[in-house]
Amino acid sequence: MKVALEIRNLKKSFGDLKVIRDISLTAKQGDVISIIGSSGSGKSTLLRCINLLEIPDSGQVYVSGELLKMKEKKEGGLVPEDQNQVDRIRSKLGMVFQDFNLWSHMTILENIVEAPIHVQKIAENEAKENGMRLLSKVGISEKANEYPSRLSGGQQQRAAIARALAMNPDVMLFDEPTSSLDPELVGEVLKVMRALAEEGRTMIVVTHEMGFAREVSSNVIFLDEGNIVEQGEPNKLFTSPQSQRFKAFLSANL
Ligand code: ADP
Ligand code: MG
Repeated sequence: MKVALEIRNLKKSFGDLKVIRDISLTAKQGDVISIIGSSGSGKSTLLRCINLLEIPDSGQVYVSGELLKMKEKKEGGLVPEDQNQVDRIRSKLGMVFQDFNLWSHMTILENIVEAPIHVQKIAENEAKENGMRLLSKVGISEKANEYPSRLSGGQQQRAAIARALAMNPDVMLFDEPTSSLDPELVGEVLKVMRALAEEGRTMIVVTHEMGFAREVSSNVIFLDEGNIVEQGEPNKLFTSPQSQRFKAFLSANL
């Protein structure tokens, strides 16, 4: 299988705080990689460095084989060389946030067709047709013309997933997609994510849902203080944790 996403020796600090210490990971097409770890361990920063919401201090990011070109700044650290490339690479990555981040002044369908029409320059009719197909896929086609505030959290998150899918990304990135949902709404979002995994979508998922991580992932990464402490195939990882850190995390979270 082709490599969809590769990170090599990524490092990121905020001031003196080393948030990502030296992380490498590879996702082949169709892989589902779950990233687990305590709050503050660097999970969001890692995702944000992948889609360049944060610029790493050092290391390389490859999306679908394309290396993001970065150059050294005089004062240290990196800066992207080519904004067109940043835009192109970002459009290959679909991001789903904890708080949905839908545009509140647009209907659900408008949210979904915005980037396809204005970034990808797809014809409006075609974008709407595709948008409706995606809303059916996530089970909320009847909400197409509602504003986000009229939807439950679970419905808003499914709309956000449809919006990310509308760009036909090579890799989907999820940052705790169910963490701000009422417990009874978590299942409907996980069901959609599970279906995407079964279709062969490449996904990187930061999650506290250990059941999802265990049943759906091809690989699980346990992050602690910016380091990958353990990683591997989920059944093995969850049944025989090696480190004290991971044992402690599991006993608090299972
Ligand atoms: P997680 O998602 O695992 O909870 P984060 O990646 O959000 O962890 O944060 C890791 C650490 O980096 C935390 O200590 C957090 O306070 C810090 N941090 C994150 N973003 C910034 C920022 N923009 N400026 C300064 N510190 C940050
Ligand atoms: Mg986070």
